[in-house]
Amino acid sequence: YKFSSFCIFHEHKLEEVSPSIYTVTRGENMLIAIYFLGMIVMILIRIPYSKQTKSNTIVKSRKSILETTLLTIMTIGSSLIPLVYAFTNWLDFANLIVPHWIPVIGTVLSVFALCLFWRSHADLGRNWSHTLEIREGHTLITEGIYRHIRHPMYASALLWGIAQMLILPNWFVGLAPFLSILILYLFRVKHEEKMMIDQFGEEYRRYKEKTGGILPKMKHL
Ligand code: SAH
Repeated sequence: YKFSSFCIFHEHKLEEVSPSIYTVTRGENMLIAIYFLGMIVMILIRIPYSKQTKSNTIVKSRKSILETTLLTIMTIGSSLIPLVYAFTNWLDFANLIVPHWIPVIGTVLSVFALCLFWRSHADLGRNWSHTLEIREGHTLITEGIYRHIRHPMYASALLWGIAQMLILPNWFVGLAPFLSILILYLFRVKHEEKMMIDQFGEEYRRYKEKTGGILPKMKHL
């Protein structure tokens, strides 16, 4: 629907307003495509690690109502709302006109975010879970990207959310993925670190002292 009539309408309207800055709305379909391409790459990166961990027995699970709620919020914010935006005109009230270099910066940031996402999966290996779990033979990873920050996967998701904010020219749809990831991060992280301390004790406490959460500590830069 949007991929045909909506865009033609916009081109016409915006050309009348200001021919020099209308580039983004004109390229809106391309930006939606970039958004979903990023999502697909994320899913592809995750597939081999999901397969690995599936065969790895869960020893302890802290999957609470809070966890289920946070995962639901994230799915709504980063998948459902962008899908509604792509296939209906319901969210067009929040459309914006932005200079074309903003989504270009967003796309570059997305590539960084995807690299960091891949790196954290590669380093975490069989210890990865989509929720708070301890696996059989769980080891504490303190090397690779985890040598500098404790939450590179969340850092990559937050960076990806910021990138999407720049890519999608709509304040509602742009904010939704970032805010839903931020809520997950803020509400989950202390439970995750508590679980890690319960499991690894002093080893995790020492690791925590040496590293930053989502940004490296200055002396490690
Ligand atoms: N917070 C991390 C990992 C997210 S995946 C990040 O942002 O990169 C969540 C799972 O990873 C948790 O269930 C926990 O069991 C595991 N985990 C988190 N940090 C870990 C570490 N340093 N070593 C091993 N497993 C870890």
